[in-house]
Amino acid sequence: MKVSFSDYAAGAGLATDLVNTSPLVWKSAGEMLGDPAGLADFLNEHGIDHPTPTAADLRQVHHLRDDLRAVLEAGTEDATAAGANALLTRATTAPVLERDADREWQWYVATDPATPLADRLAVLTGTGLLGTLRTLGHTRFRPCASPTCDGLFVDTSRAGRRRYCMPELCGNRANVARHRARSRRKAESARGHR
Ligand SMILES: [Zn+2]
Repeated sequence: MKVSFSDYAAGAGLATDLVNTSPLVWKSAGEMLGDPAGLADFLNEHGIDHPTPTAADLRQVHHLRDDLRAVLEAGTEDATAAGANALLTRATTAPVLERDADREWQWYVATDPATPLADRLAVLTGTGLLGTLRTLGHTRFRPCASPTCDGLFVDTSRAGRRRYCMPELCGNRANVARHRARSRRKAESARGHR
């Protein structure tokens, strides 16, 4: 597997999605990667080619998810860089300069074909986090703005105004909560004027 340093959004997005499969985030739904089949679906959704994951792969991916959460939560940019650098050392060979599909030269890190799944994912996510840190800065590593969610995310959008770890879900939940609070305040003030 080859990972390009310029394509950091894919790896950062994978890191965000993986961290948010945890029961720490999905308190009511629980573990989103409960068995190897669930992990296989997750890999397919993210276009990651891999033989059918084993129970050992799943265990190692759960560990990686904890490590990724720590990197996303790290309070300083130096700690984030150190954590993401450590992810890359798990499986990389030397960096290589190769042509991409447009025949432009790109830096890649490559992993050995025999590398275990979790270590490949460590390289993929670590590269994405380092690329985001270098290109967009540490303010792009954020907790979800929903008061009922413990998710984290890396914002690789151009504008950098993303607020939720799972925008459709947490954004809607927060909107519903705000709407309810507003209706409640209105009802209370209407009662107050009587
Ligand atoms: Zn969230």
